[in-house]
Amino acid sequence: MPEVIQSTKLANVCYEIRGPVMEEATRLEAAGHRILKLNIGNPAPFGFECPPEILEDFLRAAGDAHGYGDSKGILPARRAVMQHYQTKGVELDVEDIYLGNGVSELIQMSMQALLDNGDEVLVPAPDYPLWTASVALAGGTAVHYRCDEGADWMPDLADLESKITDRTKAMVIINPNNPTGAVYSNEMLLALTEIARRHDLVVCSDEIYDKILYDGATHTSTAVIAPDLLVLTFNGLSKSYRVAGYRAGWLALSGPKEHARSYIEGLTVLANMRLCANVPAQHVVATALGGRQSVKDLVLPGGRLLAQRDAAYEALSAIPGVSVVKPKGALYMFPRLDPKVYPLRDDARMVLDLLRAEKIMVVQGTGFNWPAPDHFRIVTLPHKDDLTDAITRIGHFLEGYAQ
Ligand code: PLP
Repeated sequence: MPEVIQSTKLANVCYEIRGPVMEEATRLEAAGHRILKLNIGNPAPFGFECPPEILEDFLRAAGDAHGYGDSKGILPARRAVMQHYQTKGVELDVEDIYLGNGVSELIQMSMQALLDNGDEVLVPAPDYPLWTASVALAGGTAVHYRCDEGADWMPDLADLESKITDRTKAMVIINPNNPTGAVYSNEMLLALTEIARRHDLVVCSDEIYDKILYDGATHTSTAVIAPDLLVLTFNGLSKSYRVAGYRAGWLALSGPKEHARSYIEGLTVLANMRLCANVPAQHVVATALGGRQSVKDLVLPGGRLLAQRDAAYEALSAIPGVSVVKPKGALYMFPRLDPKVYPLRDDARMVLDLLRAEKIMVVQGTGFNWPAPDHFRIVTLPHKDDLTDAITRIGHFLEGYAQ
């Protein structure tokens, strides 16, 4: 029979967080091994409960939510999202909100609707790789701007601006950042949006970790900083409300839209084509945004996420040749392996070797479009002692590791 070959559209599409190392983990699990999965930002398996009012409303809604809903999202959910941004000072209408099966679906739709073959999008390096993959799948080219580890992983503005061409359509901002945990100041957002303004770029602001903030850090929505620009704000319930499996996210369009009518029409066609997002989950968007923000209990002093971040930072910093910028937000760390101590040629192989030796999964830095094989990402979701134990074991593994 003739071979069935994947589409050439997938040639540059990579998503290493669930990449080949996952296959090896599945094989090891089938052989009876327990794998500690520090590769995925999924709070539930680490004992993070669904907030009770969200579970209650989800169950109550589910009984009567088995029909298709509006393609853009059910009205109460869109109203809640609208109100959420209006209270921050962002002017928008219910028609400017799209609900999605997680932010993931909306990222892909936003790029499919925007890009022609060869169009370019500025994406941070390191990035959350779905952005790069979605740009590639839409026929575009992700052009990576450097974030500077020596400056707490802030975007290198000169590098970013030097990479703009006449094909550049959009700029992606991930704030708080995955994988680095950086939280951008208003000055940084002003500088980024000023570049977007000068070059007529659409701004895509992924703010899914906006409530997971440490050490008094505050988050400002890019849409607040740049009311005169078309800003696409992405957020959802997966992280701040710990219900990643519900697949509930939203996209809010703010700023001038008259000049973007064609793009918005395209986005709506794509929303119509996928019929609608998971309806029961949309019924808890208002519950989440209007309810008790229980994530605060986890990130303030005494909170579990903060304690875990601190424990991970301490344990990683204790490994010779490993350094890490202490995150101000999100659920990850992106430690550096000093190339003089660990001269790696292939960080994906290192991750596979770690899995086989210690039954711990992390993700190689190059999986986040970081150009050198000298970083990895670890999630800070396990309980403090489990995290310290896992990182200590990573340290022992690295001690004798050579490629
Ligand atoms: N954006 C960022 C920065 C993420 O880290 C993630 C998930 O890890 C997503 C988007 C996707 O989230 P969702 O569960 O809403 O699809």
